[in-house]
Parts: sequence; C-alpha cells; structure tokens
Amino acid sequence: MGEENIPIFHVLDTESSHGRYSKSSKEIKFDDLVKFHGHACDGLYRGSYALAVAFAELFPNGTIDRTDLRVISRNSPCLGDAATYLTGGRIRFGTQDVENRPGVWYIIQRIATGEAVSVSEDEGFFPEEISKIEASLPELSGDILSEKLDKLKEMQDTWIRKVLLNSKPTEHYHVKRVKYTWKEVQYSNKGIRTDIIFKDVM
Ligand SMILES: [Zn+2]
Repeated sequence: MGEENIPIFHVLDTESSHGRYSKSSKEIKFDDLVKFHGHACDGLYRGSYALAVAFAELFPNGTIDRTDLRVISRNSPCLGDAATYLTGGRIRFGTQDVENRPGVWYIIQRIATGEAVSVSEDEGFFPEEISKIEASLPELSGDILSEKLDKLKEMQDTWIRKVLLNSKPTEHYHVKRVKYTWKEVQYSNKGIRTDIIFKDVM
C-alpha cells in the first residue's frame, strides 16, 4: 500500500566516455537506488521524496539532466547517495558537497543556468522518538545495543510503511527557488568530468 507514491525518475546522460547527449532517457526506480546504496532505509526514501519535489521544479519536462547538476546535502550516507545517484554530482568533479545542517534537505543547482532550488522536509514529519534512539546508539553496547538496533529498524520500517508511503512527496517536502553561489568543493584531487565535455556537439 502506498507504493504508487514512490517516485520514479527519468534521467538524461551522455552516450559514451566523450559522448554527445544520449537520445533517450533512462528510468530509475527506488530499487535501483537500493542496489547502489545498499539498503532501503528511511533516509533513502526521504531523500527520494525530497529530490522528486526539487526535480519537478528544476525540470518541468520531467527529465533530469544528470550532466548539469550540482548538489549539497547533509553528510548522511543515505541522503548523499540518493543525491549522487540521481543528480550525477560527485565530490571528485566538484559537483557535490556537504554542509553540517540537520534534517533532510538539498540545495540543487543547474550548472548551465545557475538556477537553484532548496528543498526540505517538514519539521516534525519524521518522529522525534526515532531520532532520539538513533542519537542514543553510540553510548550503548552489548545486548542493549543489539536490542535497540532491532527496535530502531522496526520503528523506521513501520513509519515508512504507515506514514511516508501513504503520503505524496509534495505533502511534506517543499521546494523554493533560491539564489545560490556555489562554493568550490574543498577536495584537492578534483578532476574534470570528461564524459560530458562534448555533450552539445551536434
Ligand atoms: Zn541508508
């Protein structure tokens, strides 16, 4: 139940290592994201919901240009992986970065036009009770830690099933256009993403 609310993404890439734009888009489903990230956690779902709302604003035609985006999120494995996979932004090309701000949010910018959006989850949508357990884990050990991990996963999965999947992305994730000046990514091994250089060649 609620599966119909899970976003499906259509992305545009180039056709080879030095390729032009591909002539067709690809469909990415939540299961594809899970294979990349490793598990179907609340963060991956919430990230997908947030990104779907942001992309609808940046790409009204419904196709996400993965050659033209840069993205910032909190440094969560789950939120960051959703952003990497769906935007094509990567730290090593200077197109993905993190900021230490709590919550589920992204800033996404189209490189060609500078258009940027900020998307975030409603405060209080994710249960405080679950967040508190997550925060308490580093102080636990042994059997108590083991029990808490099981309890946490059960609570997260229940929330996903009963709350998140029964809502549409636009109900609890909100996007606004912002002016954003991209700050150079502080990573000294950055390189050039060569597979998009010739994308516009006819
Ligand atoms: Zn995760």
